[in-house]
Amino acid sequence: MLQAQRISFPEERGLPWLSMLMDAYFIADKGIALEISKRIKAGERLACKKGCSTCCITHVTIPVYPLEVVGIYWFVIEKILGPERDIIKRQLASFEKGKGCPFLVDGACAIHPVRPLACRHFNVFNKPCSPGEDPYYTRRRDVLTPNERFKQRALAAMLPFHGVKEPSEKKRLARAGILDSMVKNMQEIEWENLARRMDGHILSKTRTG
Ligand code: SF4
Ligand code: SF4
Repeated sequence: MLQAQRISFPEERGLPWLSMLMDAYFIADKGIALEISKRIKAGERLACKKGCSTCCITHVTIPVYPLEVVGIYWFVIEKILGPERDIIKRQLASFEKGKGCPFLVDGACAIHPVRPLACRHFNVFNKPCSPGEDPYYTRRRDVLTPNERFKQRALAAMLPFHGVKEPSEKKRLARAGILDSMVKNMQEIEWENLARRMDGHILSKTRTG
């Protein structure tokens, strides 16, 4: 059976929200690994693999939760370095609605450890997506159905970021879909603001360093 790994960052010690986000992703990843394992056991083949990325260009309605946006900001500003940083900055600064995801670099997700739940959950079996194809509509049977129990638990794990800490309340509110009212479409986010923040970060490092 596939095993999900908890992705960790040393900065989590000083950033409780980051720990919360990585816990949520670990829960979701466990549910995804479980469902993929079931289908592989039933004889299917997972088509998704590194370098296969037409979904990142085709999909223009990727939902993203507030804590996920914070995670993406942090990861891009703090963790993306070298030539990839310049590419991402350019893509963010010139991003226009309807274009492919600005975090796709050379066919791979540059924010893979903090990619949103929606991206984590989208897995396709049997054959890779054709350019422009959204298999959710062309062959729904080949698209993984997320494990709802793990998905709800992952969303509940994000709720302390919004001040909800009591376990039964987190469970209740996650089930009631409280985060649905806060979800944004990745395409609607003004990514040029993040491109500017990347500049600011370099400047402040230069000044203090
Ligand atoms: S969803 Fe489709 S395009 Fe994306 S990685 Fe999987 S098979 Fe490839
Ligand atoms: S965040 Fe990553 S996985 Fe999701 S659409 Fe963008 S490049 Fe693809």
